[in-house]
Amino acid sequence: MHEMSLCESVLKCLQESAKAQNFKQVKTVWLEIGALSGVEIEAMRFSFEVVVKDSLADGAKLEIIELPGQAWCMKCSETVTIEQRFDACPNCGSYQLQVTGGDEMKIKELEVE
Ligand SMILES: [Zn+2]
Repeated sequence: MHEMSLCESVLKCLQESAKAQNFKQVKTVWLEIGALSGVEIEAMRFSFEVVVKDSLADGAKLEIIELPGQAWCMKCSETVTIEQRFDACPNCGSYQLQVTGGDEMKIKELEVE
């Protein structure tokens, strides 16, 4: 389950911002997760609770913002929305797509005190 190690890097990031911005407690974390990132949201929620236990984010709320997958279709010459990597273009059915967005995961915002 790679969500566990993803949560560990989120926590590391929180600890670094806490040091830089001088806060002690994280109340809410908004996490952007792309549809193509391969991250399972339920697994992410579960891992987050386990990983942040007894840390500065113990009991913090995890808000997940799901971003759609985006790809550039060479045939249509435009950006299209796809649900999965290796999906065909929803407009023309071509597989000549290049993923341009939705494969990332990052912290969007924090509520701290
Ligand atoms: Zn197309």
